[in-house]
Amino acid sequence: MSMNTVGRPTRPEGAAGPAGFASLTGGRGLLQDEPLIFELGGWDKTGVDLPEPEADASDLAGLVREDLPLPGLSEPEAVRHYVRLSQKNHAIDLALYPLGSCTMKHNPRLNEKAARLAGFADLHPLQPASTIQGALALMDRLAHWLKTLTGMPAVALSPKAGAHGELCGLLCIKAAHEAAGQGHRRKVLVPTSAHGTNPATAAFVGYAVTEIAQTDDGRVDLADLEAKLGPDVAAIMVTNPNTCGLFERDVLEIARLTHAAGAYFYCDGANFNAIVGRVRPGDLGVDAMHINLHKTFSTPHGGGGPGAGPVVLSEALAPFAPAPWVLSAADGFQLLEEPTGDAAQAFGRLCAFHGQMGMFVRAYAYMLSHGSDGLRQVAEDAVLNANYVKARLSDVMSPAFPDGPCMHEALFDDAWLEGTGVTTLDVAKAMIDEGFHPMTMYFPLVVHGAMLIEPTETESKAELDRFCETLRALAAAARQGQAERFKGAPFLAPLRRLDETLAARRPKLAWRPEPATVAPAPSAAE
Ligand SMILES: *Cc1c(COP(=O)(O)O)cnc(C)c1O
Repeated sequence: MSMNTVGRPTRPEGAAGPAGFASLTGGRGLLQDEPLIFELGGWDKTGVDLPEPEADASDLAGLVREDLPLPGLSEPEAVRHYVRLSQKNHAIDLALYPLGSCTMKHNPRLNEKAARLAGFADLHPLQPASTIQGALALMDRLAHWLKTLTGMPAVALSPKAGAHGELCGLLCIKAAHEAAGQGHRRKVLVPTSAHGTNPATAAFVGYAVTEIAQTDDGRVDLADLEAKLGPDVAAIMVTNPNTCGLFERDVLEIARLTHAAGAYFYCDGANFNAIVGRVRPGDLGVDAMHINLHKTFSTPHGGGGPGAGPVVLSEALAPFAPAPWVLSAADGFQLLEEPTGDAAQAFGRLCAFHGQMGMFVRAYAYMLSHGSDGLRQVAEDAVLNANYVKARLSDVMSPAFPDGPCMHEALFDDAWLEGTGVTTLDVAKAMIDEGFHPMTMYFPLVVHGAMLIEPTETESKAELDRFCETLRALAAAARQGQAERFKGAPFLAPLRRLDETLAARRPKLAWRPEPATVAPAPSAAE
């Protein structure tokens, strides 16, 4: 195995090809071997032409850093480095990305075009409001449609992810309880199937977390909820449709019981894609809900760009929303930045500026290009596609909740793998060899060996068929005793199986120079 200077393997052991074949370069055909950028560049190279700094020109005196081992690369070296890295990973632009609960839908290029307009892309957050009227108008329209689609009277745009939105929602709830003399409410109820961010957010805000049990058909156990609601409960956090891909049929009763106990209903809106244009969470009694623009509204995830998690709020929570927000006045749009006047009860600010402008533009372009009928069809097609996958795989895999249709994602357990020696993890790894991103594995925790498949509405029937045929063939291979094909997978990925626990628990986040590999930095005095 080839290693780089920090001991990271740079290419797969035993890659496919004739037995014992290894290329001279370490690459595999068009997939190039690629070292770390620090191993590529050195002090002796640069992609830019800068004048020599004058000695003693710095005002920083003794604070000047003398040794800054940044890699210097020419432009073609830098471009190739990042293109090669991009080819080592999966992307929604490459193939189906059925990661359940993540809504990995196509990112329309029209959104990208709009977001690159200079009037949006080149803004500075400290520009005077009079110079950014168009951007503020866009934020105002986006807020309008988020409120309209959810049937909620207020929205905080600044949260930068779903989890950040949860924090925003719970801080509003906490502020509302404190304002009403209910600050002694210290408990948040969360169903067992919840995404890990829900209990983590509640704990971060200082609440104690209590689990609500689940019924055999994958929904909130109403009796258990009722038993646990009381004068010490601040809020419940319920995902709807839930992480089993099922609509909470008793959601009106859940809201009624919660409000009767003096608590607020936080809805995790990550799965809004299943119901957008069809159901308004405000009509269900929800008090706060984040909307992942990078899920339902098609903005890029993760490496594709920052997220955005606006939070819609009920009448009761709206006064506590964080600054800033856009105000529409007779003489144009303004940003309300200080917690005074209308915002006197705001719990504060969530971030330095105003949220992710680039994501606002993309999400708004997505809304306008779909229209209200198009958004409704998004939800309908997302649910249809998931049910198609469920129907096509149910005879070879074991659906966790076989009765009735699912919403936008199909959940399987690992009962179908019993006796094969193959695990959920092995199936996921085998899918990588077939060119698919794995489905979500082992989540939700309440389903044994869970495999959560969310195809989204942007896949064609042909692509869904290709995916289902692949999984059917893998299921047949597992049943025929071909465990090796699974246990060793992935065989064809840039890296083989990693120690994922170690990578999560002790990630190497910083590159430390090996003395021999880096030329000494020229000191400022030279
Ligand atoms: C994605 C997701 C979250 C967290 O959202 P981020 O934008 O990743 O922070 C929370 N809950 C559920 C159910 C999710 O699917």
